[in-house]
Parts: sequence; structure tokens; C-alpha cells
Amino acid sequence: MTTKINSSRLWNDILQTGKLGATERGGLCRLALSDEDAQVRAWFIDACQVAGCDVHFDDMGNIFARRPGRRADLHPIAMGSHLDSQPTGGKFDGILGVLAGLEVIRTLNEHGVETDHPIEVIDWTNEEGARFAPAMLGSGVFAGVLEKKKIYGSRDRDGQVFQDELERIGYRGEAVCGEHPLDSYFELHIEQGPILESEKKVIGVVEGVQGMRWYDLTVHGSASHAGTTPMPMRRNALAAAAEIIVGINGLPDEIGEGALTTTGIIQAHPGSRNVVPDHVFATVDLRHTNVEGLDRMETRLESLVSQVCSRHNVSGDLEPFWDSPPMEFHTDCVRAVRESALAGEHPLREITSGAGHDAVYVSRVAPAAMIFIPCKDGISHNETESAEPAHVSAGASVLLGAILSRDQQALQ
Ligand SMILES: [Zn+2]
Repeated sequence: MTTKINSSRLWNDILQTGKLGATERGGLCRLALSDEDAQVRAWFIDACQVAGCDVHFDDMGNIFARRPGRRADLHPIAMGSHLDSQPTGGKFDGILGVLAGLEVIRTLNEHGVETDHPIEVIDWTNEEGARFAPAMLGSGVFAGVLEKKKIYGSRDRDGQVFQDELERIGYRGEAVCGEHPLDSYFELHIEQGPILESEKKVIGVVEGVQGMRWYDLTVHGSASHAGTTPMPMRRNALAAAAEIIVGINGLPDEIGEGALTTTGIIQAHPGSRNVVPDHVFATVDLRHTNVEGLDRMETRLESLVSQVCSRHNVSGDLEPFWDSPPMEFHTDCVRAVRESALAGEHPLREITSGAGHDAVYVSRVAPAAMIFIPCKDGISHNETESAEPAHVSAGASVLLGAILSRDQQALQ
């Protein structure tokens, strides 16, 4: 294939959008539905319109930019990801997939390539889940997995309501989220892990995504005076929670390969130096490549909570918060990615994604696949997140090739 993306233009876009919500340490703070999110959306829509796309957004604020195809009766082949970031995120996570999609469209324009299918770039709302939980809200509602009404009412930590914020930044569209059929969906993303870099591969052909389960853990004890309550008579919710958290961290050793566990938030009440804490809230994130592994981890987690709580004379509630089962991407789309990478002679490997992505939800309603490129030291969700310009360029080229191959494939 002779059609080539413009690497420096794409790289420049990453630097340009990286100024919207830039942090001092070179990263990004562009939380979903914030003013910075509004700025990057405006930038993106403008760039897509300059590239000749029709742009609209739905009532979840997902943005769709369409380049028409030869045949209006065909559904679009879509590319995309997200433009929001973690509070101390990087310039590549999500942004790469959206900007590479834009670059693919510009490339098609410049080379006068006509496709049979319309080609779209999508920016999904609130992928990160950093401001409004859970993650991947826009694509989740799109796929019918998450309920729009519930999401509209969800609040961030400052009490701001999702729907109000969506309206405030002007991105509650008329179109009903989900009523937008896609032929297929391709998402380019940084790996957010160390595997490709350590094996010196440039392209990860993503075959599937590991499953994850999130829980809210609440431990209830009883508040008492730190100076007058004898140790055996305490009902210390924080001491119990600490033990549970250490136990959670040790679970993967018991379960074996493929298991990962994390506690990322802990809040103790009343939060006074000389009061034994009576309530503790903590989050639990379990991941595994298969359902059996997740089930075993869940069972172990439940018994860990009950054993530790009874020893500390406190009670523990473990509420399931979110369940995203392991999944496999569509074989045709994965093949289109693999063939495109082979044609470009990029060193590749098959890989399972450790993180959740919009493509996971989209794959429930359309054939989907993902392309990974390495990121420096495997680091993501961090201001120092970085990727090589050559890898960014390779990823976007593979995306372009996959789109063109799907355009033919889907007609057969
Ligand atoms: Zn992402």
C-alpha cells in the first residue's frame, strides 16, 4: 500500500491537544466534561470539519465525525478512543486513538482514496472513570450496557451532576446514544504496560481484554477514644481494612498467573488523630484473563473480608460495583489488523489487553479490534507517559491499513 499517513502532522496534533489541560510535569489533567474537555472537543470538531467531515454528538456527548463513503446504504467503519484523561494523566492514553483516526481521514482525503463505507472517528465521553464512575460511560451507554438515566444522575466527588456538566459544556446532543449502527470499530491505543517494549515489538495485535470486577468495601467498627479504649476492646475499622488490603494484595500469589488486584482508594471516618476509626471505605479491583480465575478471586476475597472482620470484631460489606467479563475481539477485525501490520513489516505480537477500553463495550454491538503500540517503560495514567514518534506513526499506519482492508472485507 502506498498511502502513507503524515507522521509529523499527527505528532504535532498530540502536542497541540496536549496543551489543553497541560500539567506542569508535562502531562494532562483533562477530566471528562470539564472546561478543558470542552476545549479539546472544540479543537477536535473544528479539525474534523476542516477535514470535510460531518460532525454530530449524541445525548451522552459522544462525538462522531463522518467522512462519507461511496455507498450511503453501508454503516460506517469507525475508529476512535477518548480525549479525557486521568487527573495526572498523559498525552497519549486515548488521545492517540482519536487523533490517529483524524489523521487517517486526512490521509484518505489527500490521496483521494474513496471507500465504500463511510469512515468515522469517535470521541467517547468519560472513558477514564476518573471524574464520574464507572469508566467507559459513553461507550457503555452506546452499547446498552450502562443505563443513561443512572449515569445522568451520577455525581463527581464535588457533588457535580453528570447531566448538568454535560449540558454546561454544551455537549448533550439530540441523537439518542446507541442509535447509531456501526459496521465495525478499530481502536489504536498505547499498551499501558511493558510487554511490547520489553520484547521490542512495535505493534500489538490485541486479541481480547482481561476481565475485571470492582467492589466497594465498607468496614464498620465503632469510634472510641484513642487514649482510654483498651486494645482488646476496640472495634477498629481501619486496622481491619488495612489487614484486608494487605490480603487483597497477596491474592495473586495464591491464584497464580493472570491475576491482579488493587486497592486504589481508602477513606477513614471520622479522620481524627485520636479517635479509633468507625467506618472505612475502600475500593477493590480484581482482574484476570478468564472467568474461572475471577470467580476464584471473588470467593477468596469474600472469605478474607469475613475472617478479618470477625477477628477485629467489626463488620464488612463487600458490594459488587462493576463486572466487566473477559472478552475476545472479532476475528475478522483482528485479522484486518494483523494483515495490516504484516504488510507494513512492523514487528508484532498477539496480546491481551490489561486495561479496559471503549472497544470492549463497542464490541458488543459491532465487530471490533484494537491495535497497541509500546509506551515508554510501560507507564500510563501518569504525567510522564510517553511514546516514540516512530511507534505512533506505525500504529496510525496499521490503523489506516486495517480500515481499508475492512472496507473490502465487509463487502465479501
Ligand atoms: Zn485509554
